[in-house]
Amino acid sequence: MRTPFVAGNWKMHKTLGEGLELVRGIRERVKPGLKVNVAVCPPFTLLHAISKEIEGSAIRLGAQNVNWEAKGAFTGDISASMLLDAGCTYAIIGHSERRHVFGETNEMLAKKVPAAMEAGLEVIYCVGETLEEHEAGRTQAVVAAQLDEVIKGDLDPTKLTIAYEPVWAIGTGKTARPDQAQWVHVFVRGKLAGIFNESAANSMVIQYGGSVKPGNAGELMSCPDVDGALVGGACLVAEDFAAIIAAAAEASA
Ligand code: PEP
Repeated sequence: MRTPFVAGNWKMHKTLGEGLELVRGIRERVKPGLKVNVAVCPPFTLLHAISKEIEGSAIRLGAQNVNWEAKGAFTGDISASMLLDAGCTYAIIGHSERRHVFGETNEMLAKKVPAAMEAGLEVIYCVGETLEEHEAGRTQAVVAAQLDEVIKGDLDPTKLTIAYEPVWAIGTGKTARPDQAQWVHVFVRGKLAGIFNESAANSMVIQYGGSVKPGNAGELMSCPDVDGALVGGACLVAEDFAAIIAAAAEASA
């Protein structure tokens, strides 16, 4: 039985005051004992303050990116040990905006994932095809390469979450149909069974991401292989994020 995991990617949103207000709203609505793992992933500037605000709650903290080096001359970047120091449990790696806006390649991500995990972070590794790749019927080939070139069998599968995020569904209001999501999630789980083993793959959480909202979260998370969500836009409103978390709890009950 997998515990659903819902993470909110705040992207480049929220000042300190706004972020604290948001996380207080989430904290009020996410009661300890809920059978869903929950994380918020604010911008770097807010990590430390938010980590203090969520102390003693069931909410965990994640970062949106991490460098593979431990320290050095990497202007604008941040290391895994700095994120741990700021209170992070997780790092999102390979988000489509990092891949497609900032040019991160599978080769770079293949350095980030083990570096983050060796330092002690759990990783949410994002995969997903663009609209062009989707329409060309290349979803499986693209996702397979994103897994094969980055996720190696010597990583600890218990510290790794995969987020399937079709790029054509991120921030567009378009969502994959539940059957489309389920089909890719089954494919991803099969790949994970090849990389690790079947029992590890069956225990691993595979989140869906791409315009998840309170109105569609229930049907997506009712799919047997959809184990939660990576949420962008809807995580910026406490009521909406809490409603998605509640939908995850209900779908797994
Ligand atoms: C995301 O940023 O990971 C995401 C899924 O965004 P949205 O929910 O806004 O589509």
